[in-house]
This record gives sequence, C-alpha cells and structure tokens, in this order.
Amino acid sequence: MEMICFDLDNTLINSDRAHYRAYNRALKELGFKKFPFNKMVKHFGAPKLEIAKILTFSKNPRIIYKITYLHAKYLVNEAKKDARKIKGSEKTLKLLKKKYELGLLSNNSHSNILSLLKSAKLEKSLFDVILGNDDVKNSKPYPDEILKAEKLLHLKALYMVGDSIYDIIAGKKAKVKTIAVLTGHYSKNTLKEYNPDFIVNSVKDVPKIILKK
Ligand SMILES: [Mg+2]
Repeated sequence: MEMICFDLDNTLINSDRAHYRAYNRALKELGFKKFPFNKMVKHFGAPKLEIAKILTFSKNPRIIYKITYLHAKYLVNEAKKDARKIKGSEKTLKLLKKKYELGLLSNNSHSNILSLLKSAKLEKSLFDVILGNDDVKNSKPYPDEILKAEKLLHLKALYMVGDSIYDIIAGKKAKVKTIAVLTGHYSKNTLKEYNPDFIVNSVKDVPKIILKK
C-alpha cells in the first residue's frame, strides 16, 4: 500500500475567515493594527511564524511567537463559526481510502487541525496519520511532515496534494508527486513556477488523476 498526503486549509476545507479573525484578535490584543482580509489571506499556507512576521512587520521573536500562540488559541472558537468542507473533499477522501492510506499534513498545530476538522464536519478517522507543525521540527515547505508520516506508517507517500507553493516545495523535497489545487490564493501561474506534476481546479478532480491506470 501507498499513502496520499493532503494539506488541510484551502485544500480540504475553507477556513480563511476563521484564521483571519483569529489573527486580527491576536494583533489587537498585542496593540497592532488590524490587517485587511485580502492582504492577509494571500499569505496563508506559509509557515505560521512567517505569517506572524508579515502581519506585525516585526522581527522580534517574542512578538512573533505571541501572535502565533494567540492565533492558535482564538482559532478554536473562530473555527466553530467558519470552517466548511470544500465541495467534493469528503467524497475524494472516501474514494481514495479504499486503495490508499491517507495522511493529513498541515502547518496548523495538531490541536487546531482537530478543531478545524470537527467544525468542518470531516471525520478525523478518514486519515491514517495526522501531523501538524508541532509534530515536527520544521513545517512545510520542509519535507518533515511527509517524511514523518512515511516513517510512522512504514510506507511511501505517492502524492502530496495542496493549494500553496509550500505544499509543492515540501512534496518535491520529499520526492513525491505533487498535485496543486486552485481552491486557495495561489494562482495557476504562481503554482506553475514550482512545477507541480498536476494542477487541477479542486480536490474533487484528484481521484481521476490518482486512480487512472
Ligand atoms: Mg493550504
């Protein structure tokens, strides 16, 4: 058996507003200005510390850590209001699960992943392994999450599926095939620069690539 790896945010679920609101609550609490929606969401998919640097214009590690911490804390409640399955995600997972083990690899913390899944009504039991940024030393674009998932399940990953350039870079570093989906904030042209093996509109188009002979 082999494994198919999925990113979470903007690949399997829509959670932009939840992250947006959690970040702005964190910024407000530390006395920073609110960040506009469109300027913020285009950075989603990047490592969390990277996003905090951009939102605060700060290089102070304590501030950056605090923003990340508060975002994770507030996300739990915001997710309840605002996380939704992307159309076709559940069907895709159930279809692929018949033939493959499934991994969920996200730059959210492990507990945030579980909150988001619950709020979006995606069963965590669909996945054979779930890894967040606190389960590895370096999150995506590093390949650590993919490599750790392979180690834990004792099998090779065949594909990494995700909406951001960080998913594609991580997949390449781990030497797995990559499928980019266009349900996030990364354009087809931007994704093309990173040479994914396939680019499709959404996660619902993924089975026909993987299951074709
Ligand atoms: Mg994503």
